[in-house]
Amino acid sequence: MRMLGVLGGMSWESTVTYYQLLNRGVRDRLGGLHSAPLLLHSVDFAPIAAQQKAGEWEAAGQALAEAARGLERAGATALLLATNTMHKVAAAIEDAVEIPLLHIGDAVGQALQERGVTCAALLGTRFTMQEAFYRERLGQRFGIQVRVPDSATIAEIDRVIFQELCVGRFLPEARAFYLGELERLRGEGAEVAILGCTEIGLLLEGCPAPLPLVDSTERHVAMGLEWMLGL
Ligand code: GLU
Repeated sequence: MRMLGVLGGMSWESTVTYYQLLNRGVRDRLGGLHSAPLLLHSVDFAPIAAQQKAGEWEAAGQALAEAARGLERAGATALLLATNTMHKVAAAIEDAVEIPLLHIGDAVGQALQERGVTCAALLGTRFTMQEAFYRERLGQRFGIQVRVPDSATIAEIDRVIFQELCVGRFLPEARAFYLGELERLRGEGAEVAILGCTEIGLLLEGCPAPLPLVDSTERHVAMGLEWMLGL
């Protein structure tokens, strides 16, 4: 198997999911005592989140680029950046290393394309929902038209992510709010909903959703597994 480098901790709640799913994936595929060969650089999320808020993306990108270089030196053959939002600085990371960054947007885009989807709802942080880096990648590379909530709803979805999900609080009120919004986006023509934040799957786990879901964490892990196993 090939060694995978994971840039995690954003937040660690979802990095736990990456670790579990990567290991389960290898076990299911190879059986016995096989588990995932990986290196994890888990950052302190507080300064990164503060840089996001302050618009200091270059500094955040440099911090992640430095971490990526460390993973490469330690033997990683490819990288998973375990957050949607920080793919805003994917180019800074790609420029810093020789090994490939397995892009979360491509993992999601491929899953949507395989299902023949052309219009998808997107839930994530306000950066992911409002800025161009994620939506344009889905549009330009995969022909997916993305629907996002109105700005007041975006603010509330974002608040829940940073104040609740990233600190391990998964409350029924937030679950109901997210599901209600998915219902509304379905009414606007969305065929599928992208869980474009790596913690949302933890909130909606086991819930019947009003439309099919494509979970960015699951799709990204599947991409990492393909790399590891050389599929
Ligand atoms: N994990 C989240 C994401 O997938 C939000 C945390 C962050 O801002 O990186 O976007």
